[in-house]
Amino acid sequence: MTFTVAIVGRPNVGKSSLFNKLVGRRLALVDDQPGLTRDRRVADAELGDMRIRLIDTAGLEDSGNELLSNMRRQTMAAIGQADLVLFLIDAREGVIPADQMFAGMVRDSGKPVIVAGNKCEGRAAEPGLMEAYSLGFGEPIALSAEHAIGLGDVSAAIVEAAEAQCEARGEGSEVEEGDERPLKLAIVGRPNAGKSTLVNALLGEERMITGSEAGITRDAIANDLEWAGRPIELFDTAGLRRKMRVEGKAETLSVGDALRAIRFAEVVVLVIDAERPFEKQDLTIADLIIREGRGIVIALNKWDLVRDKQGRVKELREMCERLLPQAKGVPLLPISGLKSKGLDALMAGVFEMARLWNKRLPTAKLNDWLIDMVEAHPPPHVGGRRLKLRYMTQVNARPPTFVAFCSKPKDLPESYIRYLVNGLREDFKMPGVPIRFNLRKGE
Ligand code: GDP
Ligand code: GDP
Repeated sequence: MTFTVAIVGRPNVGKSSLFNKLVGRRLALVDDQPGLTRDRRVADAELGDMRIRLIDTAGLEDSGNELLSNMRRQTMAAIGQADLVLFLIDAREGVIPADQMFAGMVRDSGKPVIVAGNKCEGRAAEPGLMEAYSLGFGEPIALSAEHAIGLGDVSAAIVEAAEAQCEARGEGSEVEEGDERPLKLAIVGRPNAGKSTLVNALLGEERMITGSEAGITRDAIANDLEWAGRPIELFDTAGLRRKMRVEGKAETLSVGDALRAIRFAEVVVLVIDAERPFEKQDLTIADLIIREGRGIVIALNKWDLVRDKQGRVKELREMCERLLPQAKGVPLLPISGLKSKGLDALMAGVFEMARLWNKRLPTAKLNDWLIDMVEAHPPPHVGGRRLKLRYMTQVNARPPTFVAFCSKPKDLPESYIRYLVNGLREDFKMPGVPIRFNLRKGE
């Protein structure tokens, strides 16, 4: 499939300049299809590992009113062909009415969109870049086509959108992101939960350990291992202890140490003692992990000691939903570090969490979803007018971070935000994933 991006914006924002930069020396103008005006340039560019078709809607010689109406037609046609719209403003000038007009066309099309503020080479562009938020197209990318600033960010955003759309269409993305990069993993828990035993079990089953002892003298106390053929960098709390012993420090790990491990990691396994589950310290650490936005997986350790295993799972699931509502649906995986049981399932849970933590949802899908959510359960009235939620987009992954635009962000109740966050988790199948959700003002 050819992924097509239309570069859209009012005249003079720098669309052609950006088009030329993205297409680069590989400039290969694609034959325009019949019926299209000659003013619309089309070319294929190689961005990342992908071949992306770009449409430039600039290049009109007209002047005055003619120009805008011509541009409108041009732009409509280009948007119609596009899988993604790259909307450009001139950040030095900020958002002016002509930008609003083109933005309206993009919005009405329902196509996914990336917004960039061009001419960002100087500080004078900063306020204008912020204004771009008000368009409701998510976080604007700072760009200077002429000075080649931000081109990497623009191509990365395009590639991401292309991959997300491939995935959504079930075509699979061309580059499996992060496959080769080791997954950063930390294992935390209160004293005696069984962390060291688990780390040893993971390392022990794997014969590919490197640098376990060397870790004592290294700054980052990490062990490299492989699980099911995937590289992992494991923050080694046991190693941290050895290091402390060497340095003559007390052996108890403080919250600061847990935090260090958590910040190192992409996914954190919280080890709890299934016989004494969800004590205050467990919850404190869980809360830290979630607040740091890390993927969390809970290992129910010492499962070998549990009698009524089936009843226990149910009981622990209920406790967890009640005590950790911030991470609804977090994976609970029974293991025995001591007996090396359940480790494959635990690690499968870890990899799945890492995948979800990296997930990107296409804007168009999110907006359809938002409409349904608002319809099913409208936001409350404030001062006689119903709060409006018009648009949302995922501005970041790792963890998934969303921005929604609301007529009066400060007045939208917490409970409504929880409704949306829990809905996202459920409808887009991201159980237990820490989700960040921000509101911005926008009609
Ligand atoms: P288009 O009409 O949107 O295609 O805009 P052009 O690409 O033709 O650019 C309009 C004007 O803005 C030209 O004079 C460009 O040289 C200038 N321009 C483009 N990009 C930048 C930039 O990053 N910084 C500055 N300062 N000027 C730029
Ligand atoms: P840490 O303080 O979290 O690193 O905990 P340790 O790994 O030192 O384990 C604390 C105690 O729990 C030790 O006596 C372990 O042998 C025991 N333990 C750890 N995992 C298991 C397990 O899966 N089953 C049982 N029965 N005991 C375990």
